[in-house]
Amino acid sequence: VLATPIARLVQQLAKLPGIGEKTAARLAFHIMRAAPEDAAALAAAITEVKQKIRFCGVCCNLTESDPCSLCADARRDAGLVCVVAQPQDVVAIERTGGYRGRYHVLHGLLSPLDGIGPEDLRVAELIRRCADTSVPAAEAIKEVILATSSTVEGEATAVYLSKLLRPLGVRASRIATGVPIGGELEYADQLTLARAIDGRREM
Ligand SMILES: [Zn+2]
Repeated sequence: VLATPIARLVQQLAKLPGIGEKTAARLAFHIMRAAPEDAAALAAAITEVKQKIRFCGVCCNLTESDPCSLCADARRDAGLVCVVAQPQDVVAIERTGGYRGRYHVLHGLLSPLDGIGPEDLRVAELIRRCADTSVPAAEAIKEVILATSSTVEGEATAVYLSKLLRPLGVRASRIATGVPIGGELEYADQLTLARAIDGRREM
């Protein structure tokens, strides 16, 4: 039987996505054998991420500074916004190196079966951004690229948002289905993702 502190660590690690009981135990024993400074650095990194990271007031991405560096970058096209489900998707699209617009992070996808509705996502923030008439015309949002995955939830979210955007006079486009069906953007390779954005179609 495990000593209580180890059992507690295993229990916490097992809560992480993709980590089963066995892997959690292996990680816990690895941490126990690690140098004290390495274990302390891991604990400190976890604490720091919770203390310092917040939501960008503009794009809702996770950031240390508000507005985030992508929203604050004047060289990026403010008229073009790419809507993604998760912060990891921003990382994946940035890795392609070809996108020069801004982003909006929903933090999830519509999923009626799981009880996830628009109010659970950063939808209101997106609509407010698109309807904002206080910004100079050059910075007004002209096109929103709906870059959600080609899963049922991803498609439903894109259709839902396109209907909200149309009355605002904002063009809604959908990334090409070059992204493998059911695949999350995060796992799409850089070339496929770049092509999916370039090949987007108006909805
Ligand atoms: Zn931002």
